[in-house]
Amino acid sequence: MLGLMQDWPLLCHKIIEHAAKYHGTQEVVTRSVEGPIHRTNYAEIHARSLKVSQSLERDGIKLGDRIATIAWNTWRHLEVWYGIMGIGAICHTVNPRLFPEQIAWIVNHAQDRIVITDLTFVPVLEKIASQLPSVERYVVLTDKAHMPQTTLKNAVAYEDWIAASDGKFEWKTFDENTAAAMCYTSGTTGDPKGVLYSHRSNVLHALMANSKDALGTSASDTMLPVVPLFHANSWGIAFSAPSMGTKLVMPGPKLDGASVYELLSTEKVTHTAGVPTVWLMLLQYMAANNVKLPDLQMVICGGSAMPRSMIQAFLDMGSQVRHAWGMTEMSPLGTLATLKPPFTERTGEERLDILQTQGYPPFGVEMKITDDAGKELPWDGKTFGRLKVSGPAIAKAYFRVDANILDDAGFFDTGDVSTMDEHGYMRITDRSKDVIKSGGEWISSIDLENLAVGHPAVAEAAVIGVHHPKWDERPLLIVQLKQGQSATREDILKFMDGKIAKWWMPDDVAFVDGIPHTATGKILKTALRDQFKDYTFPTAAA
Ligand code: AMP
Repeated sequence: MLGLMQDWPLLCHKIIEHAAKYHGTQEVVTRSVEGPIHRTNYAEIHARSLKVSQSLERDGIKLGDRIATIAWNTWRHLEVWYGIMGIGAICHTVNPRLFPEQIAWIVNHAQDRIVITDLTFVPVLEKIASQLPSVERYVVLTDKAHMPQTTLKNAVAYEDWIAASDGKFEWKTFDENTAAAMCYTSGTTGDPKGVLYSHRSNVLHALMANSKDALGTSASDTMLPVVPLFHANSWGIAFSAPSMGTKLVMPGPKLDGASVYELLSTEKVTHTAGVPTVWLMLLQYMAANNVKLPDLQMVICGGSAMPRSMIQAFLDMGSQVRHAWGMTEMSPLGTLATLKPPFTERTGEERLDILQTQGYPPFGVEMKITDDAGKELPWDGKTFGRLKVSGPAIAKAYFRVDANILDDAGFFDTGDVSTMDEHGYMRITDRSKDVIKSGGEWISSIDLENLAVGHPAVAEAAVIGVHHPKWDERPLLIVQLKQGQSATREDILKFMDGKIAKWWMPDDVAFVDGIPHTATGKILKTALRDQFKDYTFPTAAA
C-alpha cells in the first residue's frame, strides 16, 4: 500500500522560490569581479534567475543540455545556477584553477552548449575556444560598460542577455530524479570524472546541511562561503543558505586574508566555510594586524585535514570550529566534527582530540570501513580501513563512464583510509594512494603533517613515502617554513619526538620554498613524489 501524501517533487528551483517568498528582502552581498561591493536580495535573485531561464530557452536550450559556468562566487553566478536548473538543464560548474587543457577536456566530455563565465576567465577561454566545438555561445557575467572586445563565439554581456527577457516565465516541473548539476572530480591521476547530481539529491543534501550539527545556519545568520561554487557545489551552501533565508556574503575573486577579513568584519558574518589554506591566510593576516572578528561564531573547514594548531587559533578567537569531511561524489558533506555527549564536557587537549577528528555523518550518510577484500573492520578508533559510504546524495556512477563504482551492498569506496571509533567519530588517516607502508604496517601521512605544522616555524608540511631498502617505504617530511622564520631538521624532529610512535618518525626533513596544491587546495603529492623521485634517505644503508 502506498502512502497518501502529495507528489511534491524535490526540485532545486523551489529553494530560491521559497527564499524569494519568505525571505525576499534578505541580502546577498558580493565583492564584484568589477571591484565594488554589490548588494541584492533573494527576491531580486529569483526574478533575475527566471530571466536566465527564459534567455536559455530563447537560445534553444532544453531539458538535459549542459551549461558550463566558469565563475567566482557572486550574485550573478547564483542567478545563473538557479536559472539553468529551473528549466531542467544541467549546471556544470568548471574549476577555473585547472590547466586550460583540462578545462577543454572537461567541457568536451560534458558537451557543454553554452559557457557562462567571469571577466577574469575570458582570456583563457579565448585561447582554448577553438578546441570547444560543442560551445555555441559565451555569456560574460558583466554589463555593457565592462564587456571586453572578445573573439569568443556569439559573446554577450550577461546584463544585455537577460535584459532581452521580460521574466514572465514559469519554471518547469519534472521528475525529481532529473539531473540538475554536474562537477568533475579534480583527480590527480587519470581523466577527471563527472559527478551528476539530481534535483532530489541536491534538495535532500540541503536539508541535511541545514541541521544544527551540520552547517546549521538560520534566517538570523550570515554565511560567507569562501569555498567556491565550482568546488562541490560550495559544499551545498548555494542551496542550504537560501533554503533557510540566511544572508549570503559572496567573496568574488578575492580570497586573500585581507579581503576575506574585510568582508567577514564589515558584513558581521556569523558562519563561514573554506579549505585550510584559506584559513591559514586569514589567520596570518589577523595576527599580523592584530585584528579580531567578534561576530564570527562558526568556521567550517574541510577539503583537507584541519591542523590542530588552526583549530586552537580559532577557538582562541572565540569562534567555534567545525571540521568537515566530504567529497564531490557526496554532494559533498560526509561528516562533521561536533561535540556530542559525553564529549561536550571535555576541555583542553581532550576537546581538541574530538574537534580534530573528521566527525560523524548527518542522517543520510551511512559509512563502513573494510579491508581490501571488503570485510568490515571494527570501530575501535585504531584499525584503519577503506572508507565506504552510501546515501541518497552519493554518486552511483560517473557521467559517461561505463563502470560499476559500488560494492555488492551499494557502498561507494571513497579512496580514503580511516578509522572509526565506537561513537562513530571518523578519522581520515590518508588517501589510499598516499598511505605509507613501512615494514607491512601503515603510517598516516596526515597525522605527521598535522603534527609538523604545530611547530611554530612551520607554515605547511607534507609527508610522502619514499622507497627504503629495508622497510619498503619510510616517511619523508617536506616543510615550508613561515616567512622570516628558521628551524633545522633536528628542531622539527625533536618537536615531533614523543608525540607519535617511534617508528612513525620521519626519516628525514626536506625544506622547500613552496608546497604545490591541486585546483581545490589540496597538497599535490604526485608533484612532490616527482620532485623527490631521486631522493634517498640518509638511513637507507642501515
Ligand atoms: P573533493 O572531491 O575535491 O572535495 O576531494 C575529496 C577528498 O578530499 C576526500 O576524499 C579526502 O581525501 C579529502 N578531504 C576532504 N575533506 C577532508 C578532511 N577534512 N580531512 C582530510 N581529507 C579531506
